[in-house]
Parts: sequence; structure tokens; C-alpha cells
Amino acid sequence: MAHDPYAPCMCGSGKKLKFCCQDILSDLVKVEKLIDNQPEAAEKLLRSLIAQHTDKEVLVTQLASVLTRKGQFDDAREQLVDFLRRHPDEPRALLALADVCLATQGFDASRRVIHRAFQLGARQFPAGVAMLASQIAQQMARAGRAMAVREHLALSVRMAPPERRNALLMQLANFESQRTVPYPFRGRFALLPVELDEELQQEESRARKVSQIGCWEPAAILYSRLVEKQPQNGALWHNLGLFRAWDGRIEEAAKALHKAADLIDDYDTAVEAEALAQLLDLEFDTDAYSIVQVSVPVESVSQLLTSLDADGRIARMPSNANEENEEQARVAAEYELLAEPLSDEVDPENLPDVLADITVYDAEDSSESGPQALIVALDDDIKKATEAFRDVAGDLAGSDDNDEPTPVSRLPQACRLFDWKTHHAEHLGSSHFRKIDRQRLDSALQKWLEQPSKSLGDESPLEAAKDANNLVKVGASVITLDVVCNRMGYDPDLAEIRSRLGIPVPLKLETDENEAITSLPLLQFARLAESDLSDDQVVDFTNRVTLVRHLLLIERAVAELIKRPTALERFTPMRAHMLRATVAREKNDLSMASECFADARGSVAENQDAFRTKLELDIRELSFRLDDPTDRELPALLTSIRERYFVKIPEIEEVIREELVNSGCTHLLDQLQPAAAGAGGGLWTPEKEEKAASSEKLWVPGQD
Ligand SMILES: [Zn+2]
Repeated sequence: MAHDPYAPCMCGSGKKLKFCCQDILSDLVKVEKLIDNQPEAAEKLLRSLIAQHTDKEVLVTQLASVLTRKGQFDDAREQLVDFLRRHPDEPRALLALADVCLATQGFDASRRVIHRAFQLGARQFPAGVAMLASQIAQQMARAGRAMAVREHLALSVRMAPPERRNALLMQLANFESQRTVPYPFRGRFALLPVELDEELQQEESRARKVSQIGCWEPAAILYSRLVEKQPQNGALWHNLGLFRAWDGRIEEAAKALHKAADLIDDYDTAVEAEALAQLLDLEFDTDAYSIVQVSVPVESVSQLLTSLDADGRIARMPSNANEENEEQARVAAEYELLAEPLSDEVDPENLPDVLADITVYDAEDSSESGPQALIVALDDDIKKATEAFRDVAGDLAGSDDNDEPTPVSRLPQACRLFDWKTHHAEHLGSSHFRKIDRQRLDSALQKWLEQPSKSLGDESPLEAAKDANNLVKVGASVITLDVVCNRMGYDPDLAEIRSRLGIPVPLKLETDENEAITSLPLLQFARLAESDLSDDQVVDFTNRVTLVRHLLLIERAVAELIKRPTALERFTPMRAHMLRATVAREKNDLSMASECFADARGSVAENQDAFRTKLELDIRELSFRLDDPTDRELPALLTSIRERYFVKIPEIEEVIREELVNSGCTHLLDQLQPAAAGAGGGLWTPEKEEKAASSEKLWVPGQD
């Protein structure tokens, strides 16, 4: 193969071959051939080449990659450091060294070299920067530094070559939909504009520039000098806080943001800075509680289930038909251990709390591990729960050598007030269950108002709000409350809380129609005036809050969406109506849900998918209505489902039957039998829907 001396060099330096590696070309080709299948030979050749050509970056980076693949990190690092001593600004050697340091010492110890590699590599080797950034994101995720995770992922998307970008965007979307991460951290944050005199402004611009390429420590250093000169500038403190948070320094970030909140004049901006600071405080607060688990070896699973079933404090959960993964398939039964035994007559208004979840697993075929029971509870309850289980299981439970609990997850103390689980007696229906939950939420919110809070100097919100100097802190604590509730699965309307505290309603945000809604910080979404948005912005708004799953914001967004035909079409009407129905269900508003289903049916296009779409809608409506087992529309809906679908798609009957049993609606099973002699003339006649394929995978309710 002839090599054009004026083509870019194969080493990737960007220089022309003639001025780069022409003298070692044949050796490089040899290395390339050896590197995958004969790494030892490649290593030997590279070492001898390096001895002759001490200035060739490609040789040392190749050797380093052979060595790291063999796990010889120290050797790889030595080679790179040695080379960089002679050529300190070679970007690819720096990127390679940063990679080795990150893998062996972690991000905190490697910051310097990483940021130097970013700075020197960003323009010429953005793919290398992208790769490093996504690895840093993974480390940050393990360390629980969410803002740094998101910003490093966003950086890697910006820097990635087109063929890698989609995979990284998927990673980013995946992160943004993680419920365990407080929702504001799942979106981006924006630097505030800063006004300075000319000389300082230049420094400020430099900081923004290096921030763009992920050099958040250098940016923070530049900014630290600026705040020294202008200690009263709130915007500077705010941006410094963001740089530090993106750099994974949460505590220092929180400090800067508290300071910013004290100094910023605009009330809502100050509140948002303070809220962010409070949320970061929660991330490193040592005052936390844990969910833990204990695994108990057991024997004779069927005998054990009989004992568990017979005990009043232990309630069996309906079995989950979706045994998708192997672990699910091993589940013999799932139970709740209750705080008090269930009486024969369950009082619907006084359902017991769940103390622990117990899952009994069958033995694993493929390995040694025998059957076991997994007990999951709060750290305060686990001992009691394990003892209660052992009491019931008796000799069927194995030795208690391993009863030491292992942590499943850890939550800040602020979440504890909203962390409860009520036993769900199926025959009462989900609707009743949600009502009970709502009452508990209301009393928890009341408690929150009266309970001392760390972020308010150990005063309660009600007390603190009496002093006008505290309004920013109290306003921020309401936002923090919203985030905490969302994390625990609730999205209460906090308008009443605000008015009880006498704090201002957040001002509506001014937006112009060219502004990208998606680039707004999520903390500001509550301040959007949806009626002022353009159609495109309403669609983006809805998509964004759906990803974040904030129920109250979804409700607002989708209510606006259905008023706008163009926007609705872009979003797809069916999706919008079903989203509204989900909101209605969560709010226990059955009449609104009915309206949504009617709208959804109205939007079904008459095409080959119509039959299937209508079937899905009917099954979904059924599953919604089963929330209230006494719903009067249920018999008619079941009759119509039976008449329409049972003959054409027989497997539907089993799906419906199971759904009825699992929702505690066995009293409706009769409706699935055709009534004797003439069901009232409502015979369904097949029309063009005849073709509807029944072989495709069936949609099964209860997965949304
Ligand atoms: Zn070259």
C-alpha cells in the first residue's frame, strides 16, 4: 500500500505524513498488525522504537495502551510521565496520562492532569476529551455527585464525534430520568451574567471559556481571584458555586451558593441559589438514614410459605406475572411484614404500616446458593423485622451468622418525614389507598411547618418566617420541600404552604419565543407562564417535565398542550391524553380520567392499528377504573371488552382475569362469562377491523 506523503499522518497527529512519522512508517504498520493478537511482540517493538525515537508521541501512547490493557498501570504512567517531561504540551500523551491516573487514583487525585489534558486536547482531540469525561461521569455517579455527573455527560456529548454522540445522549437521557436523583440535579444550570470593569471582565470571560471545555477547577481558581476583588458580587459567588459543583466539590459549592443567596438582589434568583445550596447541603449531610437488607437462608420453601401465610402480621402480595428477568423468576412469594397484625375486619381508615418487605427466593439452579428470604427495612426497623421473621419461620430459617444488614440506599434525614408505607388491602382499591396516602402527606406537611430545620438555623419554617430577614431562606426551604417530596413520590401543591408562611409567590419568568426551554434550569420550570409560550416551547416543556416526572408540572404543561392543536399534533394526541389520564388517576379524579379516555378514543386514527389501539385504551381504562372496585361503570366496561375482544383474541381473557384478581375485584369475575340468552342485542360485528393482528406481543397493563 502506497502512502501519500501529503496525506494526514496515520498516527492521528493531524500533521502531514511527510513531516510526521514517515521515517517509522513501516514499523508503525507492523505494530498495528501485532497489537491485538501479539501484544507482547508489539510491546517489545514499541520499546525498541522509543529508544531510537524519543520524540514520537504515537509510540509512547501506543505502548501505554498496551501496558494498561495488561494492567501494568504504573509502568504505563512512568512511560508517559517520562515522555511529558521532555514534551510537556503533547495533548495525546496528556490525555493518555489523565486516563491512567483517573483509572488508578480516582478523579480527586487526578484533577490537575485531567484539566490540563482537557485544555490542551479539546481543540485537536475532542474525542479523547469526550471519552475521559464520560468516565469521570461514571465515577461521579458512584460518589453521588449528581451535578458533576450531568455536566460531565453533557461535556462528553459536546465533544464526542458524531458516531459516538447518540450513545452518549442516551446515557444523558437515562441519567435525567433517574428518580433517585433530586430532580433539579437532572437538568442543567446556567451561569448568571456578571458585570465587571474591562480588565476583570476579561478574566471572567476566560473562566467561562475554560468552563466550556470542562476545566472547572481552573475556572474556579480564576473566579476565586475575582471574588477576592469583589466580595459583594452575588452573581460571581453564584457562578463560583456552579463551577465547584460541576467539579464535584459539593461542600465548597454549597458555601459559595449560600453566600450568593445573601448578596443577590432579585428575590427569586436569590431563592433559587439558596435552594440549590440547601439541596447540596443534603447531599453531604451526615444526618442520614438507610434502607438495609438482611438475607436469611431458609429451607422447605413451600412449608415456609404455609407458615408465613398463616401469620396475621405477614401479608402476601399479589404475584407479579411479569417474570422478565431471572431473579424475578426465582421469587417464590413476596410479603409485607406489618407493624400490627391484620384483624379479620380491616378498618379502611386505619391500615397498618409496613415494617419490612420480605421476598422468598427458590434455590438457584445454576449455583450453590439455596433458597433464601430477603428482608428489606429501614435501619431502625431491621433488627425487629428479622426477629419477627425468624419467630414465624422457626427451624426453617438457617443460622443467623449473616444477619448483619447491608445497605441498599441512603437518604438525607429531610426525606424521613415523607417516608412511609401503608399496607394496601387490595379489596379496598388503589383509589382508597391514594386517599389515605394523601391524608398522611397533608399531616406530614403540617409537621414540616412546625419542625425545626437545620437550614433555618434550627427554627421551624413557621417560626423563621416571622423574621423578614429570613424570607430568602424560607422561600428556598419550600423549594427544597418540593424536591424532597418529589423524590419520595409526591408532588403536592405548595401554594398553601407558601401563603401560610407569608412568603411571596415566585414571579413568572419572562421568556421570548426563540428561547430554548430545554436549556432552562429545572428549578425555574415552575415559574414558566405556559400560556405565553410558543407551540414548540409548550411541547418542549411537556417533554421535559415528563422525563423528570413532576406530576404538578406535567398537569400544567399538558393542560396547555391540549388547548393548542398544532402543539398537540406534534406531541401526538394519544400520548397527551394518556398523560393527562395518568395525572387524573394520581389525583383520584375519575371524572377527569373518563374525559381523557373519551378524548383519547376521539383521537384514534382509523388505520390498521385502530383495533389494537382501542383495545389498549379499553384495557387501560379498565385498570384505572379497578382502582375503585365499586365503580358503577365497571360491569358495562367488562361486558363490552368481553364482546369485542374475547373471540378474536382469546388470550385477553386471561389478562383481564388476572387483573381483576390482583386488584381485589373477584366479585366482577362473573362479568367475563357471557350472560345466558341474548346479552341485550349489543352484538359486535366484525368490520374492516378483522385484520387486526393478534400475533404481536400483547400490551399488558400496569407497566406505566
Ligand atoms: Zn505521525
